[in-house]
Amino acid sequence: MVKSDSTDARLPRRSGATTARTDVSIRGVTHAYGHAGPPVLSGVDLEIASGEIVALIGRSGSGKSTLLHIVAGLLKPKDGAVWIGGQRVQKPSADWVMMFQSPSLFPWMNVAQNTGLGLRYAGQRAGAAARIAEVLALVDLAALADRNVQDLSGGQQQRVALARSIATEPGLLLLDEPFSALDIFTRRALQNDVRRIAQTLGLTLVLVTHDVAEAVQMADRSVLLAEGGRITADTPITLTEADRHTHSRDFQKEVTRLRTLYSEVAGMG
Ligand code: ADP
Ligand code: MG
Repeated sequence: MVKSDSTDARLPRRSGATTARTDVSIRGVTHAYGHAGPPVLSGVDLEIASGEIVALIGRSGSGKSTLLHIVAGLLKPKDGAVWIGGQRVQKPSADWVMMFQSPSLFPWMNVAQNTGLGLRYAGQRAGAAARIAEVLALVDLAALADRNVQDLSGGQQQRVALARSIATEPGLLLLDEPFSALDIFTRRALQNDVRRIAQTLGLTLVLVTHDVAEAVQMADRSVLLAEGGRITADTPITLTEADRHTHSRDFQKEVTRLRTLYSEVAGMG
């Protein structure tokens, strides 16, 4: 998907960004914890195009979170490097943002205040109220702006975290199993909405998951990280938007195809 300058006027383009390109280039990334720890990542190479939605799938302990932390600049790899938008990642940046399973909201602030936190840290006061209103509308929380976050459901809290993440107009969103604590219906609604929002904003999205159906629901491409820290499968997901729901036969076929492939290459299905 191409970032457009002429999209919805209510959603301003990335004014503060140094570059509109948010492709991700992971080259030879190798990692182990501690001095003599076993290898967690072994020479991971992965190219992600700007605007692409990629699922990074693998069993628990396969190194998915480690790789995401390295991409975000929160962890330094033992070897190799990551480039985002052509710039080598050395530390976290406002151009990308990571979202976790726990929404980490401030309980003494309401929905709008939590949403505006990133803008406040970035010193973006002018236009902040309008931006907060826009992103809350985008995540379907416009009616709850004044609500105390403690009174929200888990799914609604995750929506606030999502609104906060996109308020500062990052080009890349890194999601580490952000829906795994939610019930199935809430999870499905969020999966659909996050895909729609990423497309609307032209975001590059890397989604860590251990759930094949989640990958098929949300991603344009699914990459398998197998034990030993190697990418052993890299598959496009070519479903139409209309088929991205569990009742579709093509959806089920795609889930089966990936499960079969993953059980063959990694004993995972
Ligand atoms: P995943 O997200 O795929 O479940 P992780 O990246 O969290 O996998 O972990 C990969 C491996 O690295 C696991 O064996 C885990 O126990 C180990 N590990 C993760 N974080 C640390 C850490 N801070 N210190 C030591 N070992 C760790
Ligand atoms: Mg993890």
